[in-house]
Amino acid sequence: MTARIIDGNALSTEVRGQLATRAAALKEKGITPCLAVILVGEDPASAVYVRNKVAACEKAGMLSLRDVYAPDIDPSVVFARIAELNADPSVHGILVQLPLPKNFDAEAVLESISPEKDVDGFHAENVGALMQGNPRFIPCTPYGVMKMLESANVPLKGAEVVIVGRSNIVGKPMAMLLLAQSCTVTICHSQSKDLAFHTRRADILVAAVGRAKMITGDMIKPGATVIDVGINRTPEGKLCGDVDFESAKEVAGAITPVPGGVGPMTITMLLANTLEAAERTQTRCAK
Ligand code: NDP
Repeated sequence: MTARIIDGNALSTEVRGQLATRAAALKEKGITPCLAVILVGEDPASAVYVRNKVAACEKAGMLSLRDVYAPDIDPSVVFARIAELNADPSVHGILVQLPLPKNFDAEAVLESISPEKDVDGFHAENVGALMQGNPRFIPCTPYGVMKMLESANVPLKGAEVVIVGRSNIVGKPMAMLLLAQSCTVTICHSQSKDLAFHTRRADILVAAVGRAKMITGDMIKPGATVIDVGINRTPEGKLCGDVDFESAKEVAGAITPVPGGVGPMTITMLLANTLEAAERTQTRCAK
C-alpha cells in the first residue's frame, strides 16, 4: 500500500486564499488585521520562522510589525513593548517567538500578552478555555492538524488516537482538540514503556517529538493516518520529520510529508487567529 499524501502546501494555499478574501472585506470596513511579532536573540531557525510569518501576513493583505532584540536585552524592555502593543487598538495579534534566551521567564512573558491578542493561544486563560471546550484561540499547530484531518475526511468519532509528545504547544492542546471530537486519546512521552505497542494501536498517529525518523513503518497500524509534526535535520542537512516517511508510507493509509505538511498549516492558522482577533474587534465596536 502507498499512503495518500495529505498536502499541507495545497491546503494552505486554499485556506490562505479564503483568509485574504475575509481580510479584504474587513479592510473595506476600515480594519486591517495586524500581527506584531517579537523575536529575541539570534537563533537562526527562529529568525526564519519569523520571516515566514511576516511574509505570509503581508501576502494575505494583513499588516505585520516585527521587533527584533539582541539576546542580551533586558527583559523589562520586552515587557514594556508588549504592554504598548496590548494597548494599541490597531494591533490585533501579538506573538513572541519561542524559545526565549535563558535569562527570560518565558511563562511570565506569555502571560503578559493580552489574552484577546494571544494568537498563539499560550496564555493560561486561553489554555483554560481550550481545556473547557470553549477556545478563544486554538494553538496554531494543533489547529492546522485539525484542518488537515478535516480536509482529508479522516473519521474522528471513536477513533483511537496516539499522540507522541506532551508539550504545551503541540501534544497537550492536540489531545484536547481530538478529545473534543470524541476520539479515544493516548499521550506518549519519553517515559512511556513500549512506545510501539501504543503507536500500533493508533487509527490516527500524531508524532510531535523532535527526533528524526523515530517512528518507523513497523510501528504503524496498516491504513492509519499519520501526522508528522516534527521538524528535524538529517546529518546531511535535509529537513525531515519524526516519522520515517519511506517506510511509513508503505503501511499508512494517509500521511503528512515533511516539508510540505504541518509546517505551512501552522503559519496559515496563525493568520486565521489574527484575522479572527481583528474580526472580533469589529463585533465589539458594533455592540
Ligand atoms: P518538546 O521538546 O517541547 O516536546 C517533545 C516531546 O517529545 C516531549 O513531551 C518528550 O517527552 C517527548 N519525547 C522525547 N523523546 C521521546 C521518546 N524517545 N519517546 C517518546 N516521546 C519522547 O517539542 P515540541 O512539542 O515543541 O515540538 C516537537 C517537534 O515538533 C519538534 O521537532 C518541533 O520542531 C516540531 N514543531 C513543528 C511545528 C510545525 O509547525 N510543524 C510547530 C511546533 C513544533 P517528555 O515530556 O517526557 O520530555
